[in-house]
Amino acid sequence: MNFETTAIKNQMPKTLYSEHSSPLFLTSSFVFEDLAEMEAAFTDQVDRNVYSRYSNPNVDELLHKVCNLEGTTSGIATASGMGAIFTAMAAHLKAGDHILASNALFGSTYKIFENIFSKWNITHTYVQPDHLADWEAKIQPNTKLIYIETPSNPLLTVIDMQALSELAKANHCLFMVDNCFATPYLQNPVKFGADLVIHSATKYMDGQGRVLGGLVLGDAQVIEPIQFFARHTGPSLSPFHAWILSKSLETLALRMERHCANALAIAVFLEQHPKIKRYFTHFYRLIHNTNWRKNK
Ligand SMILES: *Cc1c(COP(=O)(O)O)cnc(C)c1O
Repeated sequence: MNFETTAIKNQMPKTLYSEHSSPLFLTSSFVFEDLAEMEAAFTDQVDRNVYSRYSNPNVDELLHKVCNLEGTTSGIATASGMGAIFTAMAAHLKAGDHILASNALFGSTYKIFENIFSKWNITHTYVQPDHLADWEAKIQPNTKLIYIETPSNPLLTVIDMQALSELAKANHCLFMVDNCFATPYLQNPVKFGADLVIHSATKYMDGQGRVLGGLVLGDAQVIEPIQFFARHTGPSLSPFHAWILSKSLETLALRMERHCANALAIAVFLEQHPKIKRYFTHFYRLIHNTNWRKNK
C-alpha cells in the first residue's frame, strides 16, 4: 500500500455496528467474563486490553498506522512529544551512562539533559552536527545513546543519519532520531539505520493545533523496555487524542505536499529579493532534492 492508503486504511476492526469511521473508546478499563479470563489477561497469557494506561483500541489504531508509515514493527504512544523523548531515554539509560547529542535540539530536550538527567548522573556532550569527525572524537566508553533531530526545530539543521547509525553500531550505542519536522511522509529514519524514531505528533502530524501527542517507534526488542517503563509510570496518550491523531494522519500527505510547495515558493521569493542576504539554505536544498521525497 502507498503512503496515503496506509494512512487511511489502517483502522481497528469494525464493531458489530459496522461503522464507517472508527469509534472512540473512552474507557479507563475493560471488563472480563470471569476470574479465569481476568487472570489470563493480567498475566499476559492472552493479548487483550486490560486498562487504558497499558493499551486502548484508539491508541493501538494510531500506533499500528504510524508503525506502518515509519516502517517499524512496534511502538508506544505518549501524552506529548516530550513524554516520548523522556520515556524512551529513561527506559534505556541508567546512572553513569553518557549521551552524545547534536547541539541543534528542541528546547525542552536540553532541559531534560541539563536539569533532570544531570541529577541522576546521566551525562551528555553536544556535537556540532555537521562535523562527522567530531562525533567520533567525542564518543566515550560509557556512551549509550546518540541522539539527533533532523531537520531540527527551529533552525532546520540536517544531519547524515547513515553515518551516525554506523558510528552508533560500531560503538554499541542506540541511535535515536527525532523525526518530528520531516514526518514519515518525507523521511523514514529506520531506512538510514535509526534504532528509535521519536515524534511530537503535536506538530505536522495533527497539523491543526488541537492536541498534544508523542510517539516512540522501533523494533519490538528496543521498544519492549520502553513499553514496560511507560505502562508503570503512566505517560499514556488519551484515547480521544489518539482518535484525533489517527484521523489527522489521513490528510498528512496532502498537507505535507502543500507545506513543501509553500516553503519552496517563499524560498524562491526570498532568494530573488534584493534586500535578503541570507536564508535557510538547508531546507531550500532539501525541498529541491526530489530523492528526499519518499514517494515521488
Ligand atoms: C514540539 C517538539 C517536541 C516536543 O513535543 P511536545 O508534543 O510539545 O511535547 C519535540 N521535538 C521537536 C522537534 C518538536 O518540534
